[in-house]
Amino acid sequence: MVREPYRIARQEHLGDVLDALVSRGIVPGWQWNYDVPGKRALWRFEVPGTAAAKWRETGPAERLVLALCRAHGSTWEPVPHPGGQGLRDAILLHTPNDRCPLCQFVCELQPDGLRRCEAHHIEWRGKG
Ligand SMILES: [Zn+2]
Repeated sequence: MVREPYRIARQEHLGDVLDALVSRGIVPGWQWNYDVPGKRALWRFEVPGTAAAKWRETGPAERLVLALCRAHGSTWEPVPHPGGQGLRDAILLHTPNDRCPLCQFVCELQPDGLRRCEAHHIEWRGKG
């Protein structure tokens, strides 16, 4: 199930990684809306030193986020068109144990044997 207020898994997936980029101080914040209710989703965030904050459609927003993820060590990939839950699940299925399944950033193994993603408030049993 896609969480409110997202309509499709592709949007939820992009929002989740934007939360991680904010949590890690890579972008200062982000907003999400529809240009007309029920129509195209629009995303707004700034990339300090490069891209100014402006409203972008999902594809351009994903490409910018993908470049940021690559630059900062995440292996995050956007959900391909048409962006449904099955396509997202296929991406998340291949997440290595040391990476958060939502943002694909490495999360260090803690002394208690767990890994935690601070951006997503989830934890899982670590290996290695
Ligand atoms: Zn995460």
